[in-house]
Amino acid sequence: MIPFLDLKSINAPYIDAFVSATQEVMRSGWYIEGESCKAFEKNFASYCGASFCAGVGNGLDALTLIFKAYVALGKLQKGDEVLVPSNSFIASALAVLNAGLTPVFVEPDERTYLLNSQSVKNALSKKTKAIMAVHLYGQTCEMDTLKKIASTSGLLLVEDAAQAHGATYKGEKAGALGDAAAFSFYPGKNLGALGDGGAVTTNDAELYEMVQALKNYGSNEKYIHPYQGVNSRLDTLQAAFLNIKLRQLDKDNETRRQIASFYLENIDNQNISLPTLRTNSVWHLFVVRTKNRDALQHHLLQNGIESMIHYPIPIHLQKAFEDTKTHLPISEQIAKEILSVPLYPTLSKEHQHFIVETLNRFERNER
Ligand SMILES: *Cc1c(COP(=O)(O)O)cnc(C)c1O
Repeated sequence: MIPFLDLKSINAPYIDAFVSATQEVMRSGWYIEGESCKAFEKNFASYCGASFCAGVGNGLDALTLIFKAYVALGKLQKGDEVLVPSNSFIASALAVLNAGLTPVFVEPDERTYLLNSQSVKNALSKKTKAIMAVHLYGQTCEMDTLKKIASTSGLLLVEDAAQAHGATYKGEKAGALGDAAAFSFYPGKNLGALGDGGAVTTNDAELYEMVQALKNYGSNEKYIHPYQGVNSRLDTLQAAFLNIKLRQLDKDNETRRQIASFYLENIDNQNISLPTLRTNSVWHLFVVRTKNRDALQHHLLQNGIESMIHYPIPIHLQKAFEDTKTHLPISEQIAKEILSVPLYPTLSKEHQHFIVETLNRFERNER
């Protein structure tokens, strides 16, 4: 069986370094925040080319805290609308809701799966106050166009960069492309911890200070609480692990690019569409598309290849959002036709070849 993702092999090379880092943390006697968190925040901000980074508990909290911070700073008000692509992971929408704001679901571009300036324009209302640019599958959104709409209409532009560690747009990295960005370090992400973790990056000092306070009980000074915060700090041990893995992120992303190039050059089946956006992606996922998706998934499984769907139900059709009575035909069609095939840095050449051959055999010469 070729697993969809093999976290054991991805983390195996780091085990000795993780053990040393764990011992260091254990011996330090400092288990909340501490040196490894400070170091990671500094390293990750500098990696992204952003002025500030605040480590938080997970990716959902990173997004939620950005919106809560804007509310606390008076830049957003309860009930303001935030445009969210409906083909994202549900966290993108929950964050908006958790901050007392209203998610308005919009269509992605049919070919790139990313937020599209036309659908953003179509969804704009007097209440629209922010856009969430989800850099889905490791590809950055068309930020120039989105920035233009944001500045013309006075909107905040927030990046959901949970799938885009290291991805670039015109030479700049995700995390430094909008007003603020959220990252997740969930184990399966391009930069993954051994548990939950997340971060907010921004060039806005005021926003950064507010996120740091809100994630820590609304306090910047022990037992003084100017804001109603939460407890969502980046775990000290996870920060230590992430510091070690961050050094390899560019190399891992390069390996992902090589595998993606191999797939793009060798998958040749008129029943299967390949990703259209190819430059500067960090290939968090390799998503193919076919009219007969369930049959393709079955065909792969029969050949011992695990695949997944990101995501099978668009957010506006999830029961959790059943009050949202919208019909988004593009998102709904995409959800029926997409399939993610294995792509990760430790995927062997042999497996890559077998995946390509198996895809090429789909609905061909098969009776
Ligand atoms: C993973 C992910 C999140 C949430 O991150 P968690 O750390 O799992 O909370 C948010 N948005 C997108 C697009 C994601 O892929």
